[in-house]
Amino acid sequence: MKVELTNQTRKLCVIGDPVEHSKSPLIQNTMIQALGLDYLYMAQYVPRGGAAAWLEAAKTAGYAGFNATMPHKLDLVPLMDELDEDARMYGAVNTVALRNGRAYGFNTDGRGFVQALRDEGIGPEGRTAVLLGAGGAAKSVALKLVQQGAKAVFACNRTLEKAGELCRLDRQGRLIPAGFDLDTLRELCTRCSLLVNCTSLGMTGVAGQYQDLTFLDALPEETPVCDLIYAPAETLFLKEARRRGHPAFNGLGMLIWQAVFALEHFTETKIDGQAMKHVLKNVC
Ligand code: NAP
Repeated sequence: MKVELTNQTRKLCVIGDPVEHSKSPLIQNTMIQALGLDYLYMAQYVPRGGAAAWLEAAKTAGYAGFNATMPHKLDLVPLMDELDEDARMYGAVNTVALRNGRAYGFNTDGRGFVQALRDEGIGPEGRTAVLLGAGGAAKSVALKLVQQGAKAVFACNRTLEKAGELCRLDRQGRLIPAGFDLDTLRELCTRCSLLVNCTSLGMTGVAGQYQDLTFLDALPEETPVCDLIYAPAETLFLKEARRRGHPAFNGLGMLIWQAVFALEHFTETKIDGQAMKHVLKNVC
């Protein structure tokens, strides 16, 4: 896409390793253009372990802020002058706003997920959610769901210790670790009122695919199913859920909402997210 620059244009970017695949520049520059803001958003390769050096460079170069993807989200936490409640809760930063030489760390992932859920007419309140996976994305989804009133959240993971670690973050016992074997998934699906794939299984460019999705047969009718993956737009997991009649949606809504909230932090303005979703529908 073409972006117009002036001598006052403020710089933003996403840092990652790798970063070439990121949709953030497309999403952010589209929103920036639609809102008539004088910002430019780029993809910036920063190697693993390079977050501290990058932060200093960004301050020196006058960046207004940046987003962070793998593997920098955890490394940024101790480097921030201030952290918002969510970044502190997840122990991870995905948005850094630079103001007067100070770094403000935010995390917009969990909020983005819940807003996308609400757009589908689904509230977390009182739900029993089953999450497949216990990585960084599962952590923000799990903690946000219980914060927003979910009754229980099962984190099912291939590596059980990681599920245990995640679940210990909730002192009220609403997060419950579980295995990833077919029998466990089938049993938990019978009690489930929201199923979310938070693994990378089925993602474009990632080896690995669900070998057996028959656990979906155990879901109560009409149980909503979400896949955090947005590339491809329809994973095998989503396709099989839809074939069984479940309302199912991918991770694009979460991606867009976390970007809207990040741009609000960068610009310190309120943005009409629904209008941005409309603009981005034809772009992503
Ligand atoms: P991560 O921290 O690397 O976690 C990956 C998860 O996938 C772990 O639970 C891992 O289990 C599991 N996994 C990987 N390969 C597996 C296999 N062969 N069998 C069973 N489980 C396997 O990654 P993440 O940051 O949480 O991201 C997870 C997915 O969410 C990615 O596809 C990412 O694109 C997507 N995501 C989307 C958004 C959005 O805005 N829509 C935001 C963040 C992430 P182990 O612990 O056993 O390795």
